[in-house]
Amino acid sequence: MEDGTIMPKVIREDLEEFLGIMDAAVWDSEQHMREVGFRICREDGNTYTTKQCMGDACGVSLETCEAGDKTVAGFHTHPWIVEEAHPSPPIIAFLAEKKGFSSKAAGANLVPSPMDAIVALVSNEQATCLGNEKGIVCHPMKDIDDMPPRGKSIAGTAQTLRLRCLIAQRGKSQEGIDACFRDLDMITSMMGVPEKEWFFEDEIWLREP
Ligand SMILES: [Zn+2]
Repeated sequence: MEDGTIMPKVIREDLEEFLGIMDAAVWDSEQHMREVGFRICREDGNTYTTKQCMGDACGVSLETCEAGDKTVAGFHTHPWIVEEAHPSPPIIAFLAEKKGFSSKAAGANLVPSPMDAIVALVSNEQATCLGNEKGIVCHPMKDIDDMPPRGKSIAGTAQTLRLRCLIAQRGKSQEGIDACFRDLDMITSMMGVPEKEWFFEDEIWLREP
């Protein structure tokens, strides 16, 4: 299918009712200087959120939706704490131009990291939402079938590796786990441009910067 003819599966209305919970999570996150997040799930017509998780300054892993339920979105914070850590104009320009995210999202540090993108993909999120005191934005995600070839091939590799990592974790072989995450790191560092190709152009701002 031609890029541009496909539509995001997630719309603003799916996400808006969770703005209050997201705002509370942002407040929590800024208090503790840690990432906080949860998933928004749907079972038939009912939506619910998973338990909120707190990670560290660099990441958080989110609870999954009940088996069989749709994952509408993943939400997590990118806490905005240290004044000096604000992305400098050259970094904003890099994220906006090379990675293709809007300068508004880049300037507010609300751009998915490569790992965020992989986790969103393998978790079948319809959108990945990020928030901090500057704003809250959702990036609708494409289906793997609708991605351009290079993005698709990296996405496929990442998906396979992620699965291998999960199996290694189950087997509890530390060597296997380490090797697997090293490979995953290498793949994510290659992503650069394809990363943006996994998402639709239009961002959904639930709270503007
Ligand atoms: Zn993140």
